[in-house]
Amino acid sequence: MPLHTTGAGRYAPSPSGDLHLGNLRTALLAWMFARSSGRRFLMRIEDLDRARDAGSGARQLADLASLGLDWDGDAVIQSERAADHAAALAQLAAAGLVYECTCTRKDILAAPSAPHAPPGAYPGTCRDRSPVEREAARAAIAPRQPALRLRAPEGLRSLEFSDLVLGNSRGDIDDFVLQRGDGTVAYNLAVVVDDAAMGVDQIVRGDDLAPSTPRQILLQRLLGLPTPPAVEYAHVPLVLGPSGARLAKRDGAVTLQDLSGRGVNPGVVRSWIANSLGLAAPGEAITAGEMLQRFDPTRIPHTPWTWDPRAPGAPRQ
Ligand code: GLU
Repeated sequence: MPLHTTGAGRYAPSPSGDLHLGNLRTALLAWMFARSSGRRFLMRIEDLDRARDAGSGARQLADLASLGLDWDGDAVIQSERAADHAAALAQLAAAGLVYECTCTRKDILAAPSAPHAPPGAYPGTCRDRSPVEREAARAAIAPRQPALRLRAPEGLRSLEFSDLVLGNSRGDIDDFVLQRGDGTVAYNLAVVVDDAAMGVDQIVRGDDLAPSTPRQILLQRLLGLPTPPAVEYAHVPLVLGPSGARLAKRDGAVTLQDLSGRGVNPGVVRSWIANSLGLAAPGEAITAGEMLQRFDPTRIPHTPWTWDPRAPGAPRQ
């Protein structure tokens, strides 16, 4: 049963710590893309990876609210959606599209890659095992449990999709993991199942996730879920730190909490982000509503924003 029936955008952070300027900028973009197109805007906390769950989901939501973002309904907690994830996995398994994999990372690196396979693709070691071989492989790794992989359609090595920011984009497909050996459902499966159940038809996120999109579109097709053009994608440029690498906590005060400790309030952060998106002059105070009024999805910058703490308007670190 879908949770909602009309189109929606969403922001789906993993609760692995406080959001930094790059995450906050992507969230504001996702919100503006959705609201400016008349969609609802939804929030989902992607807490499946318990090893990374620092319990920071609530703080992430509070930070987004303090920037002026609003969302419809309560945030969806991904770990509470296990029944739907299991049902999707069962649907794929019933169609013969799932197989057990006992490979370790080391096994995969050591295996010769299949001819014409994309770089880094799963070499297919466990794909065609007989039931007897599968039992032996299972026994050999006990008490470790096998992971589950998708049996990707023969010959489908890549898939093209249209992106509102990147244009036409092509990415690799392989027999990717659907469930890890420890029982955790993989990101690609959970994200596809949850977006469909929430009625999400516009996915705006950092462009580091563009390479995952072909896999997710393949899952939409195999599960009979809405897929492009009924679902649109916009992968937005990341924020880089002063060294030119992707912005990270080590780059200094990059979260709202760190910045407020230096006397920078969320309104100032919003003004920096708006300026980086061409929506405000340097130092101009602006509300989220005003940003939305000025937002034009066809005019967002296509290159990363390099955040330099020594730039005018930013605090000295
Ligand atoms: N939870 C993912 C992340 O924080 C994003 C998932 C998505 O937007 O598809 O990287």
